[in-house]
Amino acid sequence: MKIHEYQAKELLGQYGAPVPGGYCVTTPEEAYEAAKNYGKCVIKAQIHSGGRGKGGGVKVANSPEEAKAIAEKMIGMNLVTHQTGPQGKKVRKVLVTEAVAYKHEYYLSVAGDNENARLTIIASREGGTEIEEVAANRPEAIVQTPVSAVLGFKSYEAIDIADRIGLPEALKPQFTKLLASMTRLYLEKDCSLVEINPLVETDDGLLCLDAKVNFDDNAVYRHPDIAALRDKDEEDPKEVRASEYDLSYISLDGSIGCLVNGAGLAMSTMDIIKSFGGQPANFLDVGGSATAEKVAAAFEILLSDENVKAIFINIFGGIMKCDVIAEGVVTAARTIGVKVPIIVRLEGTNVALGKKILAESGMNIISAADMADGARKAVAAAAGR
Ligand code: GDP
Ligand code: MN
Repeated sequence: MKIHEYQAKELLGQYGAPVPGGYCVTTPEEAYEAAKNYGKCVIKAQIHSGGRGKGGGVKVANSPEEAKAIAEKMIGMNLVTHQTGPQGKKVRKVLVTEAVAYKHEYYLSVAGDNENARLTIIASREGGTEIEEVAANRPEAIVQTPVSAVLGFKSYEAIDIADRIGLPEALKPQFTKLLASMTRLYLEKDCSLVEINPLVETDDGLLCLDAKVNFDDNAVYRHPDIAALRDKDEEDPKEVRASEYDLSYISLDGSIGCLVNGAGLAMSTMDIIKSFGGQPANFLDVGGSATAEKVAAAFEILLSDENVKAIFINIFGGIMKCDVIAEGVVTAARTIGVKVPIIVRLEGTNVALGKKILAESGMNIISAADMADGARKAVAAAAGR
């Protein structure tokens, strides 16, 4: 789960990190009022995506009037950054914050290292908007330090990192405290990333000018305060709908909708579609305990995607029974109507009954002998062959 910059800064502030104040607003008038608190201010688009600076989502205003004019243009705009994809993201709110003068931009983050069951602190002397280029072209400028998830972070590790990124001596105590705050936040709130970029050096010490905090979806239920920060406007409506039904669904940009049970089968279905030259429109696992109602919701989500040109239903009935899947599909198809071909591969518990329900539904169904046959037929159908 992602949150906005203004929320991330608030959270970091609660953990004792040095963050600038600010006002998150939704209208140009509010931006005007907020800007009165500052001589010079920065207007920052609040979207769940980075690269805003380069994309035109971070602008300096020298007066409340200018802040209002910038907010007028920014609120409602479709902001395209190298992280949003070409479709961009609609800006619904902006952060009005003091324009801070700084001497240097550093990069600092805490991320997970699942492979080694540890945390990794990543730091660089060359923070700012070019960090991706630095990482790609000069990886030696990025310093990585493993940290135990059990013992937590130790002060001497911070001193070592500070030395390796050439942090001035006087800033070390503050840097140590900041890293302690970041790792504590990471562990206590089940984060998957706590990132400060840039972390700037000002005359008064270090300041987190931008912050990004992501959470492990599977652990959000443990933190009602974090769950409350969720902004559904920023999420794919199909994914929001899927989460209401407790379905594992991820939108992709291909043309073949996949309805599958089991995460492993869902992954291999995507792979086999690709190996026959097609592109999946989604990852969808209806799970083992899906009801006909849940399957109907899943099918409806697939059908609501305009890019879907064919649907591949690939079910292995184990705990999940084939007739339950078939019933859900037919119910959804009756209420919404289906215009695309449906390729079905059913196997396992109650397979005969499932096939019968589908055959008698009157839908345009192409049955497949096995998974490869199904994938081949789905790719052909999506291509209009
Ligand atoms: P991002 O591009 O989405 O990561 O947005 P950032 O918040 O990191 O802003 C991009 C860049 O704008 C930063 O690297 C800074 O150079 C600049 N910037 C952001 N806030 C301020 C500020 O308060 N003062 C100054 N001088 N520059 C800022
Ligand atoms: Mn940034």
